[in-house]
Amino acid sequence: MSLDATWVVDWMRESARVLAENRAELGALDREIGDGDHGENMDRGFAAVLAGLETISADASPGGVLQKVAMTLISTIGGAAGPLYGTGLLKASDAAGTETQLDGASIVALLRAVRDGIVLRGKAEVGEKTMVDAWTPAVDAASAAESAGESPGGILRAAAEAASAGAEATEPLIARKGRASYLGERAIGHRDPGAQSTALLLQAAADAARNA
Ligand code: ADP
Ligand code: MG
Repeated sequence: MSLDATWVVDWMRESARVLAENRAELGALDREIGDGDHGENMDRGFAAVLAGLETISADASPGGVLQKVAMTLISTIGGAAGPLYGTGLLKASDAAGTETQLDGASIVALLRAVRDGIVLRGKAEVGEKTMVDAWTPAVDAASAAESAGESPGGILRAAAEAASAGAEATEPLIARKGRASYLGERAIGHRDPGAQSTALLLQAAADAARNA
């Protein structure tokens, strides 16, 4: 079983849909420990991604689609999240290379490349209350699922579940990176908005691979 460029396109379409649907919720999370713009930033960025998908060539590779998406996010999302997600997806595009079919191992490599790109750009470690706290358990769960012989769809479902748990687990943490780090202990009890948007993005990835 493998996934192709259609999966990446469906992933991005589903992401745009759920980010629009959760715009207010992400905004509310960011109002509690940041400046309130995360929902707006993500919705605007993925609306631009959606528009860009209209002009993508029919023979584009998964890596080609990811590269275009990454460039759009870097240029349209203001704030911290755009360059972070953009760099992550650009590294994922490199990881996919010119492959047309992504098997389980390639899916794990792709997710790991996103996480590593985000870490390269933002220098956050696990436990610092950022999106890295959703990506890292997601990559670990994806890798374990792949070793257990799961299909690409099963790997993505494991990643999505772990990302959601990881986002929830940011609630008791003190933030050490980004705007929320200015709050010190006052950030305790609030979920990190970027970890929550990561959980939504990975759920979208799994939903787009529903039959794989
Ligand atoms: P801004 O903080 O500039 O308003 P957003 O609100 O769009 O940008 O994004 C905030 C999210 O970005 C945070 O919830 C956090 O998950 C993530 N973030 C901020 N700084 C970093 C970093 N250095 N590394 C990883 N993620 C970060
Ligand atoms: Mg913000």
